[in-house]
Amino acid sequence: MSYRCTHYPIGNAKRNAKYAERRMTAKFTKALGTAIAAMMIWTAAAQAAECPRKDALGISRVLRVDPATFPRVGLKSFPQTLPLGDHEVVLTFDDGPWAATTPKVLAALARECVLATFFLKGKPASEQPELVRRIAAQGHTIAHHTWSHPNIKHLKPDAAIAEIDKGIAAVEKALHGTAATTPGIAMANPGIAIATPSTPFFRYPYFEMTPATLDLLQKRGITVFGADLWASDWEPMKPARQLKLLTERLQIARKGIILLHDPKAQTAAMMPAFLRYLRNNHYRVVHLVPAAAATAAASPQNPK
Ligand SMILES: [Zn+2]
Repeated sequence: MSYRCTHYPIGNAKRNAKYAERRMTAKFTKALGTAIAAMMIWTAAAQAAECPRKDALGISRVLRVDPATFPRVGLKSFPQTLPLGDHEVVLTFDDGPWAATTPKVLAALARECVLATFFLKGKPASEQPELVRRIAAQGHTIAHHTWSHPNIKHLKPDAAIAEIDKGIAAVEKALHGTAATTPGIAMANPGIAIATPSTPFFRYPYFEMTPATLDLLQKRGITVFGADLWASDWEPMKPARQLKLLTERLQIARKGIILLHDPKAQTAAMMPAFLRYLRNNHYRVVHLVPAAAATAAASPQNPK
């Protein structure tokens, strides 16, 4: 499978003028995206404050992730991870959206007033845009996980970039009705592809990466997420066994970015008990947002 990448810079003046025009449009789109993201954070904070359940787990803090400081995180793949304290966890879900199970995961998270990061695949996102918007409307962070979940290492370089770009574009379109771009990045880095999502978080399928795409994502200002621990929920097992496995791993790690899969029925079934476990064992959930959106949320013109 191969897609043409259309995001490379254009060499002549006439096309550059056209490019500038597109940048203006993109600038507006980006401003709109930032405003929406800021609203979402505000909504998230309001939700946390107004959690109807008295003994809910909730979120303990919002962590702004700046790709300049944290280009790659997750100890399973990289030497560094996010600056989490003891008993602080970040919940991440890969491979959705999936109609049969994602709503169950959302319900479990909502019941505990918890927010997570969803690394969505472009293809199902394009097929179920309303579910993508529902995840975002609940206050969760929407991140990226390619179009069709290939092993990037097995693709030719152009096809690998196209998989990443097509996935980002599909999720952006589901969220905002348009594929947002970051013109500043294109201007500052001539020769680099311009497609950058409104939430610049990406995770490779199977954590299989290539130096060329890693380099490209860093130049675009996109943080690459690995994970610190996982539930191995790609292996079929009963929810109770999966809970035991995950909580035992967490007892050893004591904190970290946890990888789960919302399309897995066993994970959806495990979530209520897992969230209760976190609460009863004094774990605190940290909600990730992109640094730019967090700055916008803090500015005075935004609702309090
Ligand atoms: Zn995946």
